[in-house]
Amino acid sequence: YAPLAEIDPEVQNIIDKETWRQFSGLELIASENLTSRATIEANGSILTNKYSEGLPSARYYGGNEYIDELEILCRKRALEAFNLDPAKWGVNVQPYSGSTANFAALTALIQPQDRLMGLGLPDGGHLTHGYYTAKKKMTASSIYFQSFPYALDPSTQLIDYAGLAAQAKIFKPRLIICGASAYPRDWDYASLKATADKEGAYLMADIAHTSGLIAAQTLNNPFEYCDVVTTTTHKTLRGPRAGLIFFRKDGPGREDLEKRVNDAVFPACQGGPHNNTIAAVATALLQVAQPSFKTYAKQVIANAQTLASSLMAHGYKLQTGGTDNHLVLWDLRPIGLTGSKVEKVCDLLGITINKNAVSGDASAQTPGGIRLGTAAITSRNMTEEDVKVVADFLHRAVQLSLVLQKEAGSKLLKDFIRVATTESDELQGAQQVKVLRRD
Ligand code: PLP
Repeated sequence: YAPLAEIDPEVQNIIDKETWRQFSGLELIASENLTSRATIEANGSILTNKYSEGLPSARYYGGNEYIDELEILCRKRALEAFNLDPAKWGVNVQPYSGSTANFAALTALIQPQDRLMGLGLPDGGHLTHGYYTAKKKMTASSIYFQSFPYALDPSTQLIDYAGLAAQAKIFKPRLIICGASAYPRDWDYASLKATADKEGAYLMADIAHTSGLIAAQTLNNPFEYCDVVTTTTHKTLRGPRAGLIFFRKDGPGREDLEKRVNDAVFPACQGGPHNNTIAAVATALLQVAQPSFKTYAKQVIANAQTLASSLMAHGYKLQTGGTDNHLVLWDLRPIGLTGSKVEKVCDLLGITINKNAVSGDASAQTPGGIRLGTAAITSRNMTEEDVKVVADFLHRAVQLSLVLQKEAGSKLLKDFIRVATTESDELQGAQQVKVLRRD
């Protein structure tokens, strides 16, 4: 029962280095957050030892009395966090991640080779919403189902709801998926529901990115219109890495969704639930239901809007000219930079961002933009005044990227990389964590 540092100092050292990276840098990746210490404790608990295939009171293994209690508690908290009536909505809390939650939801809702429509990846959709390229069907959602993407209106960069309705009339999908990985605006669920009803399709929302903001009632509510809602638990919801599938229990043709979703998660797509993760999800959901989470969610949005306005004040172009949620899509094409160049320079400066396609990008491999999110910096109590400073750092990073681009292969570039990397290498592992604790 010796501690990790004693049993495996090598892994402990990597964890220490990553701890330093996370806390000494600026975390602006829109899909990440800093979960609470309580959540991490639950996630690292002995619940990881237990097998519990099946559902509460119907397991394939003995010894599950406490695991049953845990799963029931987690379900209750998930419904409460989103203000859902347990008579009308149920939830499966076993998915290992957002991708497995989505594939299980597709398995529950439609048959192999049925048709589905999701927002195209280059327009901000997720891989699991039917993505394929001209050369290859590369995701299970396009390998096992026939998919067709809907798109943004190029003139506004907003979802083209009329175009989607017209395409659905021809394509006749059995399922329409809404939700995105990189869309800075809110969704018109009523319009999507009207299209889905017209074509006899199910409507599913993947709220992985915005679920914390939806739980805090700061964005439109997909539960009013959708049959199934999936989410990850580790983005704006600020929990551990996992997924949830909410399903409607009432309405014509929806009465058996509970059984279909539960069967799709296990045994169709998964084996034994990760009970340590379910405990951590339950703890995170308890925190989501507290009034302070609403304040947090409002601050996430206020920070993203300040980031957007500060960058635009520097003359930069943002997709849709702003944001309604936690993320900002920065179009770098007008200044002649690619997202990957700026991502690399920011990495050297201790600012973590990711390259991202922007509307109209010629290639998804060399995207012309970056995606920024404020969920993690808001968890570190940053407010609008701090975000203005962050925007200035980003402005300087972009200006530096322009200089370095001109100097490609030069001594200036090599010197910059040497200085940027030596500084962060000065302190190593455990030493770095000591510095953090002292501060
Ligand atoms: N759905 C959306 C909209 C996402 O953005 C992501 C991940 O970024 C996922 C699903 C997949 O989640 P996971 O990485 O947990 O499988």
